[in-house]
Amino acid sequence: MATPSLSLQPDLEAMSAEDVIRWAAGEFGEKLCLTCSWQKQSSVLVHMVSELGLGIDVIELDTHLFFRESYETRDRLVERYGLNLLRPRIATVAEQHRDEGPNLWERDPDRCCHIRKVEPLLKALEPYGAWISGIRRDQSPSRVDTPKLEWSESYGVWKLHPLADWDEKRVWAYINVNEIPYNPLHDVGYRSIGCIPCTRPVAPNEEERAGRWAGSDKLECGIHIERNE
Ligand code: SF4
Repeated sequence: MATPSLSLQPDLEAMSAEDVIRWAAGEFGEKLCLTCSWQKQSSVLVHMVSELGLGIDVIELDTHLFFRESYETRDRLVERYGLNLLRPRIATVAEQHRDEGPNLWERDPDRCCHIRKVEPLLKALEPYGAWISGIRRDQSPSRVDTPKLEWSESYGVWKLHPLADWDEKRVWAYINVNEIPYNPLHDVGYRSIGCIPCTRPVAPNEEERAGRWAGSDKLECGIHIERNE
């Protein structure tokens, strides 16, 4: 697909997270969405969108393998901000066991992430022209080159990363100053939070995402990786 043109593309790299979101809302209108996995970045973004007075659809990729604390965080954020939450259907764990064999995440985590995250997101993004995600450059070496705006050939949408230049300290300062509900697992060593089988807490000297797929060389679930097919 050819990269669609934008009516005006300001220097987003020099803009604040709020200005990036405001610009995207003006450019894409109702065709703008936000994905949330109920980590600390989700807390920042849903608050920011609310403060800007924008009603942006929120897509939750519920793998059915989230921690109880993640679901409870979602519920607190929905209650406080009245999110328009969209939850694409994802195969149940029992269905996956039946079709792929038990515990696919142990044998082939890339395929498991593809089934439970990438494929549902591909479908969920079909009606949209742009997608806001909370990834940050300092989260891991695999994210260090994240721009604030890029065209995703894989998903056929513009992808926005308003928090790309935020560090972890800034995220926490924003959450604390604004008293935003956040995932309590962050308080007990989980600096990055995904599915239960693939997430562990990290030691203070480890990287932020070292607890994801620990013990393997997998760094990303795949939704932020461009496929060259
Ligand atoms: S993070 Fe683990 S359990 Fe979740 S979809 Fe990926 S491989 Fe499966």
